[in-house]
Amino acid sequence: MYVIGEKELNEIRKVFDSGHLFRYKAGGHAPWTGQFEQDLARRVGVKHALAVSSGTGALICALAGLNVGPGDEVIVPGYTFISTALAPPAVGAVPIIAEVDESLTLDPADVEAKITERTKAIIPVHMLGLPCDMDALTRIARKHKVPLLEDAAQASGGSYKGKPFGSIGKVGIFSFNHYKIISSGEGGAVLTDDPLIYRRAMVCHDGGCVFFNKDAAGPKPPFFAGLNFRTSEILSAIMKVQLGRLDGILKRLRARKRAMAEVLAKSDAFALNANNEPDGDCASHLPIIFPSADEAGQFARTHEKAVSLFRPIETDRHVYSNWEPVLNKQAHHPGVNPWTLAGRKYEYSKDMCPQTLDVLSRTVVLATPHDLTVADARKLARSLV
Ligand SMILES: *Cc1c(COP(=O)(O)O)cnc(C)c1O
Repeated sequence: MYVIGEKELNEIRKVFDSGHLFRYKAGGHAPWTGQFEQDLARRVGVKHALAVSSGTGALICALAGLNVGPGDEVIVPGYTFISTALAPPAVGAVPIIAEVDESLTLDPADVEAKITERTKAIIPVHMLGLPCDMDALTRIARKHKVPLLEDAAQASGGSYKGKPFGSIGKVGIFSFNHYKIISSGEGGAVLTDDPLIYRRAMVCHDGGCVFFNKDAAGPKPPFFAGLNFRTSEILSAIMKVQLGRLDGILKRLRARKRAMAEVLAKSDAFALNANNEPDGDCASHLPIIFPSADEAGQFARTHEKAVSLFRPIETDRHVYSNWEPVLNKQAHHPGVNPWTLAGRKYEYSKDMCPQTLDVLSRTVVLATPHDLTVADARKLARSLV
């Protein structure tokens, strides 16, 4: 979260004054959630947006929307928050871990190599706001008739060749937890053009789904056993204001990243990581890559006090080698273990994606300084070369 203030407080006060904090009202959407969903769908350019309580919930609803279940495989990148890899097991499916390349996003060639007849979804993650190679991934997805589920949890407002993240795949998700670009502390959303996926996600997000039965238009999926990933009017009031701030936040981030990148590109010690779409990049992060892990470590140690930076290889459960529940194939109960239910053998190991570990260990990620002037951001960059 970059900005929060008086505007959000005023909006929350209006919700309190209305006396109604629940997302549904008399068989329809309550005002703030209904409005936020409409605003978000328009901003992303999709027909349907469903606000939910978290990005993880959004992933689970999206997979349920795609009818993914036991016996199915879902391809996820080896560098993403663990949630991306835990959502498939939550619906009974097996996550297949694929390499990321220098762009820190899914390596299309490795995705294609890992597709089988059981692959039911591919989850490209626009990690750190950085665009995936959506042209290559879309081509592969079409060729193999597998839907793309875009995980744009860290990438609200980004785009690829003019198409907003969340609108490129069959379905997309956002997270609005505290660490994301716009935030209500917790929250998320499912985005899709497909009315059936939307309906299925809606049932998944609210097992009671009273509203679902009363909404006459559109296709009706069977009313299966859902859960509760509902948002509240308070969170939606915050998000309605946050969404209005999004373009301003991205503009600041992009100006600062551009200024820093210009300076850093001249370094002999490191290079800027390959970027699949600099114009659509959210620009919240600026990754630089070194010839060796030692050099990356040395740089990080030298500059960590002066600049906000991190080494992706040291970010715990964002790196697949630290995903114990996946590597150990552990579900909460053996009877619902997706790896057992699949009826075939799956092997994971800490070194199964060597390219990912290599890239992550040689990369240092700089935060783009949202609060600094562009001139000060440039000065900061000069202190690093
Ligand atoms: C944050 C995040 C999620 C999960 O979002 P929550 O709102 O924390 O549940 C999923 N995928 C990625 C890439 C994330 O960064």
